[in-house]
Amino acid sequence: MPDSLARRWMDGFAADFALEKERLGALDRAAGDGDFAVNLAQALKRAAAGLQALPETATDAQAWTAAANGFLHTGGTSGPLLGMWLRELAKAWASHDTPLAALAAGVAAGTAAVQRLGGAQAGDRTMVDAMLPAARALEDSLRDGAALAQALERAAGAAGEGARATARMTAALGRASYVGEAAAGIEDPGAAAIALFFRAGARACAA
Ligand code: ADP
Ligand code: MG
Ligand code: MG
Repeated sequence: MPDSLARRWMDGFAADFALEKERLGALDRAAGDGDFAVNLAQALKRAAAGLQALPETATDAQAWTAAANGFLHTGGTSGPLLGMWLRELAKAWASHDTPLAALAAGVAAGTAAVQRLGGAQAGDRTMVDAMLPAARALEDSLRDGAALAQALERAAGAAGEGARATARMTAALGRASYVGEAAAGIEDPGAAAIALFFRAGARACAA
């Protein structure tokens, strides 16, 4: 049986992260406390172990839940927030007919959950600044009747643009807010990771 989309996606995300780990770590060292890459590495390792433990017949919703649990049990601000985000993706996957409908609903609900928990608005220089444009791109694609691969390409592009824009923002909350203007020109690592996530999704889907 071929690997599910969620498994291929998370495998690809982990592989991309390994290539970008140094860069993401440096971003959090420059404008935060420097542990982001370590936190994300640990979350991805736990997520991979959870996915590995699932039976081959597991559904995508079950796979997303296993991934979410890996993140939820990891420290730092990013672990629990990304865990909640993935949990909404899992819930949506279980209750929608097509992957794109599930993805659009899940990313929107997950981003709302992250905002509820963390209090971040657009422009506060957090992962939310990559999540919101990705959610919009997915909803637009769903409305346009786009194919899943194209929708994920658009989401990856929008998340990447959102992440790059955080370099021009001053943090209102989180650790980067402690350094204020000193973060100018430095991309938010959480937002950069979200862009990587959607890029991996686009690849997993095209495969
Ligand atoms: P910590 O700041 O606890 O060391 P991490 O280094 O694991 O956490 O994660 C930092 C990332 O978390 C930031 O780059 C940012 O994207 C995200 N973040 C921090 N605070 C918030 C918040 N309140 N809401 C949403 N995202 C946040
Ligand atoms: Mg940190
Ligand atoms: Mg920390």
